[in-house]
Amino acid sequence: MQNSSAQSGQLRYFEKIDHPKQQEFINSQNNCALCGSELELSHLRSEEQGQIKEEAYCGQCEMRTRAKIFSLN
Ligand SMILES: [Zn+2]
Repeated sequence: MQNSSAQSGQLRYFEKIDHPKQQEFINSQNNCALCGSELELSHLRSEEQGQIKEEAYCGQCEMRTRAKIFSLN
């Protein structure tokens, strides 16, 4: 995951998202609170805006259960 083009400190924050401890945290919240089904998580990285948007979608309930914005600034 090391990126030689890390010219700014912001990129380090991206790397933390992929850190094993972060993955554990994400996996622990990986089930729908309503029906218990596994959620489909998507992380959209917008480097121009310095944000990561996380969305969790439950295919059983057909609803989006959360959307978070991680600001990198
Ligand atoms: Zn559900």
